Amino acid sequence: MMIMEFFKKSRQCKHENFPPEKEIGYCPDCGELIENQWFIVRCACCGVKHKAVLKNGEIISAEKFCHNCGSKSFVAEKVDKINFIDISYAVLVKTVIMREDFEFTQSWAEARETSSCTRRLLQQFR
Ligand SMILES: [Zn+2]
Ligand SMILES: [Zn+2]
Repeated sequence: MMIMEFFKKSRQCKHENFPPEKEIGYCPDCGELIENQWFIVRCACCGVKHKAVLKNGEIISAEKFCHNCGSKSFVAEKVDKINFIDISYAVLVKTVIMREDFEFTQSWAEARETSSCTRRLLQQFR
């Protein structure tokens, strides 16, 4: 019951208290590992930057069409290092990183694999 409640709570958390200037860290409310990801939107046709907005979990352009070429298709682009100019265009997405889940799945898989299978996998990576 307590576990259920925890999951319910963490899913609802919007990580609003996690500072936007941090690149990566733990949310002070739910303890999840959060990565701040900035996105801008470009016109798919001419590449002009547009103001990005987040709507129903999707990154879309604030404008309905491109003021430069009239195109209605846009592409979202992740900004690795947010700068002073882009920040007015960008939208911040607080992404939860499932690092713990990933590690858990991996060790579980390793324990289940037979030794010959693991060896074959290792050889493939060389
Ligand atoms: Zn949170
Ligand atoms: Zn355009």
